[in-house]
Amino acid sequence: MKFGTKVIHAGIEPDPSTGAIMTPIFQTSTYVQEAPGKHKGYEYARTQNPTRSVLETNLAALENGKHAICFSSGLAAMDNILKMFKPGDEVISTNDLYGGSYRLMMTVFKKFGIKSKFVDMSKADKISKYITKKTKLIWIETPTNPMLSIVDIKAITAVAKKKKVLTCVDNTFASPYLQTPLTLGADMVLHSATKFLGGHSDVIHGCVITKDKKIAADLRFLQNAAGAVPGPMDCFLILRGIKTLHLRVQRSCDNARKIAEFLDAHNKVSKVYYPGFKKHPGHAIAKKQMKDFGAMVSFDLKNNSYRTAKKILSGTKLFSLAESLGGVESLIGHPASMTHASIPKKERLKVGLTDSLIRLSIGVEDVDDLIKDLAKALG
Ligand SMILES: *Cc1c(COP(=O)(O)O)cnc(C)c1O
Repeated sequence: MKFGTKVIHAGIEPDPSTGAIMTPIFQTSTYVQEAPGKHKGYEYARTQNPTRSVLETNLAALENGKHAICFSSGLAAMDNILKMFKPGDEVISTNDLYGGSYRLMMTVFKKFGIKSKFVDMSKADKISKYITKKTKLIWIETPTNPMLSIVDIKAITAVAKKKKVLTCVDNTFASPYLQTPLTLGADMVLHSATKFLGGHSDVIHGCVITKDKKIAADLRFLQNAAGAVPGPMDCFLILRGIKTLHLRVQRSCDNARKIAEFLDAHNKVSKVYYPGFKKHPGHAIAKKQMKDFGAMVSFDLKNNSYRTAKKILSGTKLFSLAESLGGVESLIGHPASMTHASIPKKERLKVGLTDSLIRLSIGVEDVDDLIKDLAKALG
């Protein structure tokens, strides 16, 4: 099945009791058993829920995996992955990543003796020098957030495999429509389904997808033991969002390309971060591992002024000033004070995340109106 068919049909059957074409929302906490231990595969809704099971089958198909496990948020999914490790184990992560992921590693898991190192992975051949006997996991975000650099998934996972280190790709920014890391060698894929998968800014949700039976069993055990499960209504909303994933992401990518070009030609803009440009250092890799270049565009200002940035951020009408991304509506954000405020300024500046950097999540509106809105705010 091709992607545009999978989003609508993979794992989805009409409800056998009524014929309802849409997956029912099984809003129940428990299931009646015929006799002790004799049941239909569902015992208690922390452990299993039929709406969630349908979504998991669908997600596994989209990422070309075998198992998907859904969580109450992207960070709950990451928390569950990190709980597979023990004190003394180490994680190597991309140095430009979602602020909340950084915070989880550096505050919560550091306290339990799991150390994280943050490195530049845009040069894949350098990764082996960071790996030690203690390294158990390589955490990859690509395109990175908010600098939109590209990590060569195939190259990094090849090194990790040789050294028997697990890899997980946070695929939130690309979505499975653009990039499927499991086919490039990753052991796990994580999504904040809150973003492109849900796509309508109305639900918080996360998931992990893998081909590996043992990883899936470990994650399911930890999830049931710790309890960060999504509600059935939330699973329904993600299922509903996924049905148009390919249409939304493609339109957003088309819009993003035009907006990146507009910004690149603007006299107040010093630099546009967009992997679709030939001059972007990760362009060739992005072209190889992604279907298009994504819906995210970041840019910096010539005068490097936080005050000017603030004016632009409150000057747009169609672009709403808000955290998050991946919805049908376009958003404008200020990483230094919003999504990445939990990363120390010294670390932020190392990757080029200045106080005047602005991040855009491009929606599916008419691109002419979006450009007019930005032109007015920049003027
Ligand atoms: C939003 C986000 C997360 C966290 O997901 P939540 O659903 O908000 O918990 C993780 N990684 C990336 C890249 C994100 O954008």
